[in-house]
Amino acid sequence: DLKTRVTPPSKDEMGSLAQAINDLALDLQKYRESRSEFFSNISHELRTPMTSIEGYAKVLKEKLYDSEEEKEQYLDIIHQESIRLTRIIGDLFELSKIEEGKIGFHFEWIDLSEVLNSAIQKTKWRAQEKGLDMRAYIQPDLPFVYCDGHRMAQVFMNLLDNAIRYTEQGTISAKMTKENDVVKISVEDTGIGIPEDELTYIFERFYRVEKSRSREFGGTGLGLAIVKNLVEQQGGSIRAFSEVGKGTRFEIKFLISPDIKKEEEEE
Ligand code: ADP
Repeated sequence: DLKTRVTPPSKDEMGSLAQAINDLALDLQKYRESRSEFFSNISHELRTPMTSIEGYAKVLKEKLYDSEEEKEQYLDIIHQESIRLTRIIGDLFELSKIEEGKIGFHFEWIDLSEVLNSAIQKTKWRAQEKGLDMRAYIQPDLPFVYCDGHRMAQVFMNLLDNAIRYTEQGTISAKMTKENDVVKISVEDTGIGIPEDELTYIFERFYRVEKSRSREFGGTGLGLAIVKNLVEQQGGSIRAFSEVGKGTRFEIKFLISPDIKKEEEEE
């Protein structure tokens, strides 16, 4: 009846309503802050190479160099910084497409070990160039994973590329195994490592542990943000484990679908 319908909310209900509104306001504030932080990061990231291109172009135009050698050096910087700019813009575009769900995934049952092996073959020369050992351990008879093979290749290449860039000596090992209901892929290095309190941030856009080092090696600071988005949109998860001076391990997990498990059990 009317009386029960218009009963005012109890103190508890009012309390949780107030809490919900508060949370919403906080979320909105956080969203606004992260948005404005994101834009200030982008401006900074783009401005840094632009400033040096502008500066060195001016030096060349006004012939403010002492030798042909110096001129070549400036041209080289302009060239390198242009490549960096193009890479940042490309990565940004890619990331925004992924985040907005605008890239279509081509899902199939994939033998991920093949994808991992081919990513290793493609990056091996760079490891060898640095004198790093590259190893792979792939457990036999792994179940297929329902994902996009090309996108997973991109993920593996990115992790292997990072492992090589942030390792001075030792080994890069890629592993793929099955543990209970999970297919696990890990990329491990014996590199510089990441401080524990920074581990949660490395998947954020433009977050870098050592800004200068990342730039020096051509990083855009967007690789891991792209990787995390790609893995999660294919139903997987990714985590990083690390110890400074010892090395880093990235672990990707895909849950084996119940159908596959059943088939395996029946065999
Ligand atoms: P970047 O292009 O700078 O490498 P990423 O998004 O790929 O950007 O990685 C973010 C940051 O995480 C890097 O700048 C680096 O500080 C850290 N990082 C990523 N992978 C590794 C690794 N294998 N070992 C040590 N640090 C790493």
